[in-house]
Amino acid sequence: MKRPIYLDYHATTPVDPRVLEAMLPFFGSAFGNAASRNHLYGWEAEAAVDEGRAKVASLLGADPQEIVFTSGATESDNLAIFGVARLLRQKGDHLVTATTEHKAVLDSCRELEREGFCVTYLAPAPDGSIDPEQVREALTEETILVSLMLANNEIGTIHDLSAIGEICRERGVLFHSDAVQGIGKIPFDVATMPVDLVSATAHKLCGPKGVGALYVRSRRPHVRLQPLLYGGGQEKGLRSGTLNVPGIVGFGRACEIAGQEREDEARRLRKLRQRLFRGLSGAVEGLVVNGPALPKLDDRGEPLGPETRLPGNLNVSFPGVDGEALFAGMRGVAVSSGAACTSAAVEPSHVLKAIGVPDELALSAMRFGLGRFTTEAEIDSAAAEVASAYSRISDTAARGAV
Ligand SMILES: *Cc1c(COP(=O)(O)O)cnc(C)c1O
Repeated sequence: MKRPIYLDYHATTPVDPRVLEAMLPFFGSAFGNAASRNHLYGWEAEAAVDEGRAKVASLLGADPQEIVFTSGATESDNLAIFGVARLLRQKGDHLVTATTEHKAVLDSCRELEREGFCVTYLAPAPDGSIDPEQVREALTEETILVSLMLANNEIGTIHDLSAIGEICRERGVLFHSDAVQGIGKIPFDVATMPVDLVSATAHKLCGPKGVGALYVRSRRPHVRLQPLLYGGGQEKGLRSGTLNVPGIVGFGRACEIAGQEREDEARRLRKLRQRLFRGLSGAVEGLVVNGPALPKLDDRGEPLGPETRLPGNLNVSFPGVDGEALFAGMRGVAVSSGAACTSAAVEPSHVLKAIGVPDELALSAMRFGLGRFTTEAEIDSAAAEVASAYSRISDTAARGAV
């Protein structure tokens, strides 16, 4: 059976064969526990973890000792938010985030509200952006943490973290970013970016599932956290539990590759995205782009102007058609109708709601996530399949209306 064309890279990505190759020995003879100090098995596992840590740190511009390995970005977000809130409760009880954040951030904040904290949820502009001045206005004497993502997982909006981080720094407020969708895709460097805590996950950059990291700034300021997990004291006590050695090796290799290939890959993806958009908009009357306007590109694939949207992201709505029927008619293309994490529920995505997309358009929204193994031929077939599903449905709808 022919498998559908995979265009859902925001949900997860295929493991790069180079990553898999790096991991395999650690499922075999090199199975040691990185905390075992008395034999070769432990030493080789520890050395592999050190190397993985150095590679993850290098992609972020961090020091290896600032990386805490976790089970993924959900855990990293939880560790950052609960970790700061529970430690700084005496200092203040207020947090700032945005309505377009990932559920891992939003639901952590909701839980803190139940525990007595106050949270301000900033509303974005129609393109999904947050004006740094909104952050400044939201800060109070009680604010202990601002959490805003680097890039949105549905509409690809890239936030101006430099400006937002500067404001936090001036006010002595810690700044966390869920940077999952941007890391390895757009420039991001904690050496120059005023951000204190950063969540990352391997499976969004062609690494394995179940391994992530939290960057915790160690100098100016030295950030401290209350752990979520207690036990063996791994990761300087911030995250007890036996390290996922194969996962960490794969995460490191994935970061190394992403760092080497990022710029060329971004140019390639912008061009593919443009090609997909042209294919769809040529076939669909009144196709609506959700999120930031697509950039004009030069012939190399460089945007003319600042990049405001992830290179591999396209989110569009099909006016006048039933989203579910449209999806049912295009089984050869694997895309998402909303955030993957809430795809069990058939309600408009909270992100599209937050940027003011009307319900009927949000329900026909389609999120395309292009990535490393996406080819031009796949883009052309996907566009053709979506276009034909669309025309079948709109014909049916037109006949029904007569
Ligand atoms: C995928 C994703 C997460 C969750 O990451 P896991 O590693 O699957 O827990 C968090 N935030 C964003 C923005 C994501 O895209």
